[in-house]
Amino acid sequence: MHNRQLIASAIGCDLKNFVFCRQIHSDGVYKVTENDLGRGADFLQHNTIQDVDALITNVPKAILCIKTADCLPVFIYAPTHRAVGIIHAGWRGTIRNIVKKTICQMGVHYGVRAEELLAVVGVGCGVCCYEVGEKVAEQFDNNYIYPYGNSLHLDLKCAIKDQLISTGVRSSNIHISTTCSICNSEDYFSSRAQKGAGGYGLAAIGLL
Ligand SMILES: [Zn+2]
Repeated sequence: MHNRQLIASAIGCDLKNFVFCRQIHSDGVYKVTENDLGRGADFLQHNTIQDVDALITNVPKAILCIKTADCLPVFIYAPTHRAVGIIHAGWRGTIRNIVKKTICQMGVHYGVRAEELLAVVGVGCGVCCYEVGEKVAEQFDNNYIYPYGNSLHLDLKCAIKDQLISTGVRSSNIHISTTCSICNSEDYFSSRAQKGAGGYGLAAIGLL
């Protein structure tokens, strides 16, 4: 809560308008409305949307938040239609096309077109460190799987980028962070490097 307050102060936003979700590696998308804001300081009880992994809104001052530690945060901004989205994308959500489904929901609710979108894939697991088992690897196209010695690594950032492009987002409008949370775990929380004993990074987006 202390860290959240520091962030809210730094960006000049009211912590009451930060909206979190209980993430379950699903493909669920939730549309945040005025009714979800300002319910009080007890976020875990009142500002936590249950069991979804993406939030969208066009309500000014709503700050959409997800937590990550190796999974990838995907930020979506529609400058023309004035809407934003944030996605928690691990391998499970990516298999379930959560990025595409979130953008489709932004189209349904806000009239957003994929060609106008700006997208950022933030800090998270890099192909350098993201070892996966065979059962996970076989669910992805071979283009995203790299043999490292005796193990297989997944390039999840590339899989998400291609999902954005196949949804219609221009590649020139996509920024992918090259920073890997696992080999930079002194600077970022990493579930793998810290073996679940660390915290989570906050990824947030909103219309001011
Ligand atoms: Zn790495």
